[in-house]
Amino acid sequence: MIMRFETLAIHAGLDIENPSASIVPPISPSTIFEIGKEGRSEDELHYTRLGNPNRLQFEHLIAVLEQGSAAAAFSSGIAAASAILQALDPGDHIIIPEDVYSGNRKLVKLIMNRWGLRSSFIDMTSLERIEEAIRPETRLIWIETPSNPLMRITDIAAVTVLAQKHGIRTVVDNTWPSPVNQLPLKLGADLVMHSTSKYFGGHSDILGGAVVTKAEDDFFSRIRTIQRMGGAVPSPQDCWLLARSTRTLAYRMRGHNEHAAEVARFLSDHPRVADVYYPGLESHPGHDIAKKQMKGFGGMISFLVDGGEKESIAIVGRSKLIKRATSLGGVESTWEHRKSSEGEGSVSLDNLIRVSIGLEHPDDLKEDLHQALKR
Ligand SMILES: *Cc1c(COP(=O)(O)O)cnc(C)c1O
Repeated sequence: MIMRFETLAIHAGLDIENPSASIVPPISPSTIFEIGKEGRSEDELHYTRLGNPNRLQFEHLIAVLEQGSAAAAFSSGIAAASAILQALDPGDHIIIPEDVYSGNRKLVKLIMNRWGLRSSFIDMTSLERIEEAIRPETRLIWIETPSNPLMRITDIAAVTVLAQKHGIRTVVDNTWPSPVNQLPLKLGADLVMHSTSKYFGGHSDILGGAVVTKAEDDFFSRIRTIQRMGGAVPSPQDCWLLARSTRTLAYRMRGHNEHAAEVARFLSDHPRVADVYYPGLESHPGHDIAKKQMKGFGGMISFLVDGGEKESIAIVGRSKLIKRATSLGGVESTWEHRKSSEGEGSVSLDNLIRVSIGLEHPDDLKEDLHQALKR
């Protein structure tokens, strides 16, 4: 029976390492598992850093939803990103967006470069720029689309064709769209990474990450080894909670998509707003590619106000409903003056506000924005 996304999100993974009659698998807090009388066998659970029922359940679930063959779960999105980069060798070169998620930029510049990873941060909306940046030692192209916070769109299918021509692996940070809106492995990518702290968790109360692979190849074995031996693994409790949240992912994303589209239109029509970055708007430069590769445009909007840094911070300070906070993907709407949040090395504009549209009634959100944007 071929099941669709909504059905898989509810049913996949429930029966893995769950011999009980419980429909909802129990949380397995035990760090150790009994060794068989005949001695230890490789495929049995042994020690929880190496494997745990709840982690196996979540890994299966996210692999199925991203249409991959396997997944490795981590204690944060950054830990997942680290594992991908650590699977490369010193001297290898990567191509990565100039406006990549700021935590990933810091990871590359402050840590990985010191260990011999070479990197080119470029504008990934141009295929020519990507091709120009390719060197003989380029091993990985990092794609983040929509990008953060400018919502730039990269053509995943076109970049993966180019990468394959040069024998280069591609990874897509699919945190923002989620597999509900975008399926990078189907579009040709080799790996998908997630901060599951965002839409998968969905309630701003779990930190986590994951890597999903198209093929269980040598590169993924390296990632698996880094997960187990590097040790940045999620707790059984977090895996259990994540699996629980994921069961409603499809319906939450529908709400985020719908509400953000409505708020983006409201902002575009607002006299105090100089520009709106939302790939669902026809005026967005990446709209046509976004339409081709995304089912929905997500819950994230960035916009520029007609003022400077001080005025932008003041606007964010006036919200009554939208919470002032970083991060994204929760049921509650949050916003921030992005430059101050990113801190040192930020490439965000002074007057850029980034908002994560939650699942409140969109009219309430628009009313709050209306009063916050008043002079
Ligand atoms: C938040 C985020 C990350 C990092 O994930 P953490 O769970 O915070 O470590 C990576 N990429 C994107 C696009 C993100 O939004």
